Amino acid sequence: MDYCDVSLPVPLDQTFTYQLPETLKHRVQPGCRVLVPFGARKLTGVVLNGADAPAAGSIKEVLRLLDEEPVLDAELLSLGRWISQYYCAPLGDVLRAMTPLSGEIRKTKVYSLTDAGRDAARQLILGADESDAASQVLGLLEARPLSAAYLLKKLPNGRRAIASLEKKGFIEVEDLEADRDPLRASARRLRASWLAPALDGVKLTKRERELHAFLELHPGTHNLAELDSSVTGASQAARSLARRKLIALDPEAPTGVFAAEGPPRTLNPHQLQAYQQIEEALRGAAFRTFLLEGVTGSGKTEVYLKSIDACLAFGRSALLLVPEIGLTPAVAGQFFHRFGDRVAILHSAFHDAERAEHWRRIRGGLATVVVGTRSGVFAPVRNLGLVVIDEEHDQSYKQQESPRYNGRDVAIVRAQAAGAVAVLGSATPSLESRYNAERGKYTRIVLPERIERRPMPDVEVIDMRQEFLETRKQATFSRRLVESVSERLDRGEQTMLLLNRRGFSSFVACRACGERLQCVNCAVTLTYHRRDRRMLCHYCNYAEKVPSVCPKCGSEYLHFIGTGSEKVEEELHRDFPTARIARMDRDTVSGKRHFETILHGFREGNFDILVGTQMIAKGHDIPNVTLVGVVSADIGLGLPDFRAAERTFQLLTQAAGRAGRGELPGIVLIQTINPEHYAVRYASEQNYEGFYQKEIQFRKLMRYPPFSALANVLVRSQKQEEALEMSTELGRRLDPAPEGLKVLGPAEAPVPKLKSEFRYQLLLKTLDRKRLNETLRELRRFAHERKWNPAALVLDVDPLTLL
Ligand code: ADP
Ligand code: ZN
Ligand code: ZN
Repeated sequence: MDYCDVSLPVPLDQTFTYQLPETLKHRVQPGCRVLVPFGARKLTGVVLNGADAPAAGSIKEVLRLLDEEPVLDAELLSLGRWISQYYCAPLGDVLRAMTPLSGEIRKTKVYSLTDAGRDAARQLILGADESDAASQVLGLLEARPLSAAYLLKKLPNGRRAIASLEKKGFIEVEDLEADRDPLRASARRLRASWLAPALDGVKLTKRERELHAFLELHPGTHNLAELDSSVTGASQAARSLARRKLIALDPEAPTGVFAAEGPPRTLNPHQLQAYQQIEEALRGAAFRTFLLEGVTGSGKTEVYLKSIDACLAFGRSALLLVPEIGLTPAVAGQFFHRFGDRVAILHSAFHDAERAEHWRRIRGGLATVVVGTRSGVFAPVRNLGLVVIDEEHDQSYKQQESPRYNGRDVAIVRAQAAGAVAVLGSATPSLESRYNAERGKYTRIVLPERIERRPMPDVEVIDMRQEFLETRKQATFSRRLVESVSERLDRGEQTMLLLNRRGFSSFVACRACGERLQCVNCAVTLTYHRRDRRMLCHYCNYAEKVPSVCPKCGSEYLHFIGTGSEKVEEELHRDFPTARIARMDRDTVSGKRHFETILHGFREGNFDILVGTQMIAKGHDIPNVTLVGVVSADIGLGLPDFRAAERTFQLLTQAAGRAGRGELPGIVLIQTINPEHYAVRYASEQNYEGFYQKEIQFRKLMRYPPFSALANVLVRSQKQEEALEMSTELGRRLDPAPEGLKVLGPAEAPVPKLKSEFRYQLLLKTLDRKRLNETLRELRRFAHERKWNPAALVLDVDPLTLL
């Protein structure tokens, strides 16, 4: 090819044609990444296809080929085109999100001589003073171009000389994307664990002592790179301690997950009939989607495992998507255990080099079972036969930045293109999926009971208004909950307590003037975090000191209102001083592998009570948990979002489903001030069908999805007038509304200011997806013509939340 069309990560709906230099003509293929000049910049783009010589105009040359083999094959390129089209996202953005090794690539500055520099260097060789830094730089670069890092290592004082040579035009700099050295990364893939106490007389440095003590207090193995962030200089100290056999240093297990024991199980009759239907579809080798609706604890994972076995036996590969691998180490472990070397796990906690290694094994066809999160849907799996989407209702499948795709839906499209079977699994399917099953688009398979006929947990709803009337106390825990927790403690059983809000108090208000303390960047209240002694914004992380007087009126009567998971933990310590309590929320799980450590500890029985936000409700299977308490079911019910009921139902049902999964039966206590709300009621009965029937009526009546397609059109700007004006212009543009489209707004967004930007939105609702798509494209063009900042207009197709 002499010319090629390249897609670049710029917010324009077009591709760009470049000429290929002689050396690259036979090496560039569609799907390879290239470095090209774009205006004054150099950008990495993806080659889409060869092109004809352009009729007129000057054309620039491709600078460098970054891949000898395509990173995106034809199948993935066409999936990228579909995403770009369906979600109205620029193709360049989509392809960038799909290219896997972006993490492996690191920006490097490379210096080389200009022609003038070459002349200057030659004169130097003819006998100039070599002692000054500038001459040394020229001398080094004479041999070959060098990275900035290398130059500075050779000449620690050369920074100024380099800048000056660049300014004079003797040397030039290029931003290159260099491959990372995988060996360097692998040196960091070590795990440390405590071995033996230090003997008297053994001298340890302060760091060694600290690390040794830390490991003793935190049993288990710890990733060395992560330890570096808790104990300064851990790596060095670790090596020295390991030499003296005080701690152990071992290479990381290849997956970083806990391998689960146990041979394949014999499927029970329900699992078997589910498996047989999937197996038959795999045999047919044609696209088909199943909705596997199985109550919590019904053994869905085992059905996935068997289906994957079948898929492999037919000579094809399988892809399993999960909401968050860090949260489901046991599931990942089961896969590793069952499929060994054939598994690749795309784990967000992996280092770049590890991730690259898994990616290469997948593309090379060595790994035929791939487990990943949302972006795993882009894994270069060869000969795909089966895609499983576990917990298909989970919100984390939707990406909240451009391209705003839903990994579940993309997975189905990918399966269709590959002639593969898709299996969506959940105890609480999304309304969309369940409705698709009703319409015959998906085949519904039901697992109606728990493994070994274990009973579903008994759920009690506790009316906190009544509790208040009887006790005259505003308490976090009802008497019933306190009593039940003590019973578990006495019996050595475990408790999980859910409160879906982190922090200590939810906000601070002034009793005198009513002022609520707000974020300076966002129109939301700040949350009190006691451990950090800070008021924190949960949207932008802005932090400030806890005020002692009202910033508005100076009154001292500040009132801390509401409860967060941090306060729940503290009150538990007060009520149960001897209980061993762990908390899991975004404040306690800083390191990515931290989830696993806490969960593992809980599973091993190192804690009696686990407190946390919704992350504790997701899919965990811990047999000794016999009590699940929901501290408040009400958070989320009042949100101005048509999915509020669905979310609450899913959260409560999933949380309840954590109880009584082993031999011991479990109970669930749900505290609420809305005991008659249907989401709470159906969740307490673990009645998905009842909830679905009621909710689907509401959606139909209101013409909400699945009875319409939605798009959220949002404009944002640091200047309020500008945001307002843009939204008004869009509103005018859509008035009268295009046929078949209903336009709501423009109106202030539910969070009117976020990260210092003012936000207004319009909601488009329609039965006609094609019309919706055309309209959105039209708006994008309009914004472009008006020269709006490309980031100002946000198009969200199939939004999951309107907040
Ligand atoms: P779900 O994902 O449907 O909530 P899991 O897949 O976590 O349920 O299974 C629940 C428990 O039942 C797990 O501990 C699993 O190992 C066990 N299990 C699954 N299938 C069988 C079976 N056929 N026989 C015995 N135990 C099983
Ligand atoms: Zn005040
Ligand atoms: Zn904020």
